[in-house]
Amino acid sequence: MRFLAICLSFSLGFCNVAFGQGTSFYPPFDTPPYTYQHVDHMNDLIKSLVDTAPIPEATPVIDETPWKRWATVENYSFGKDRGGMPMIADLNALHPYFRDKIFDLIRICKSKGIDLAVVESFRTHAKQNEYKSMGKKYTRSSGGSSKHQYGLAVDVVPIIDSVADWHNYAVWKKVGAVGEKLGLRWGGRWKHMYDPGHFEWTGGLSSYHLATGKFPKPPKPQLYPCLEEDLLQLTSYWQSWETEQSTTASQKVESNKMK
Ligand SMILES: [Zn+2]
Repeated sequence: MRFLAICLSFSLGFCNVAFGQGTSFYPPFDTPPYTYQHVDHMNDLIKSLVDTAPIPEATPVIDETPWKRWATVENYSFGKDRGGMPMIADLNALHPYFRDKIFDLIRICKSKGIDLAVVESFRTHAKQNEYKSMGKKYTRSSGGSSKHQYGLAVDVVPIIDSVADWHNYAVWKKVGAVGEKLGLRWGGRWKHMYDPGHFEWTGGLSSYHLATGKFPKPPKPQLYPCLEEDLLQLTSYWQSWETEQSTTASQKVESNKMK
């Protein structure tokens, strides 16, 4: 009899629209509100648990300045030994006019089916000195005399089938032609140190002028109304990178002395 009662109340649960309320496991849509009390109770319970739960400690805001977020490239990323210090490969690290020319270079090459990767843009004195210490095939210039150190040079490489291809002369010629049409100086013309991935622009300024802190003027300065402020800001970011990489370099010298 008791068994029958349990069975009956169980089955009533599924059809209490017809048999009345009170034993429902699954409140039907037309059940009067009082039968939902257990649902409200659950909500209250959850709310009380949430209210008494410890508030998680706020994550400290790290004051990361934009220069710290510049894209960098680790050694051997494009198949070549380019020293232990990472290369800055962010186009925002370049002089604004030159940066826009490199955007154009990448965009136009892409429209011709050539994908270019940026290997290095701005370069610190410390990084330049690292290249110098690695031998003649890396650079002729010591710290201070490369256009990279003024945000006026960039190194790119064509990516063919997901691999950096440094030796495809036909592709380099096409890339070089695009760059020269944009008014850039192309390292693929250099006899002493053929460097087809290298493009630079100095707006007619000599290395001497660059070293004294002068920046070249864009052909249409009105297109860069905030150039002075931008360059001031950029110079401070470069200085931050100089501090960072020269500290790394001196730590390396110290640890070599210890060996
Ligand atoms: Zn270069």
